[in-house]
Amino acid sequence: MSDNCLFCKIASGKIPSKKVYEDEDFFAFHDINPAAPVHLLLIPKRHIVSLQDIQSDDASWLGKMLALVPQLAADNGCRPGPEGGFRVVANNGTDGGQEVAHLHFHIIGGARPWDKRAAPAA
Ligand code: 5GP
Ligand code: ZN
Repeated sequence: MSDNCLFCKIASGKIPSKKVYEDEDFFAFHDINPAAPVHLLLIPKRHIVSLQDIQSDDASWLGKMLALVPQLAADNGCRPGPEGGFRVVANNGTDGGQEVAHLHFHIIGGARPWDKRAAPAA
């Protein structure tokens, strides 16, 4: 938990969000400015800024986070299978277009054919 972090405050409920999933380690909610019909954000509850801060001993929880992605996509309106699908985006650092300094995966879908303009702003 970082005192001045927006996503830490969302994960702890101090700032409201449209939650779609929560467990001991992770929290997922609707992006406030959706770029597509489905636009979720999946975050770890622990405060970590970006993938640039990942070490080898983070592999276990990071793998669990990634494994949640298809489940959340399917539960929130993305069609499964090769005709459906979704996009996963992680912006890292300023050059990577990251605006909120707490690791998050964008889960973007529900638009077909894929509209490249639906990508989050860099
Ligand atoms: P980034 O550019 O850091 O990869 O993405 C940050 C995302 O967080 C943006 O898509 C933005 O719309 C979203 N966002 C920013 N502030 C809030 C907020 O207070 N609530 C929610 N639900 N999403 C937010
Ligand atoms: Zn944080």
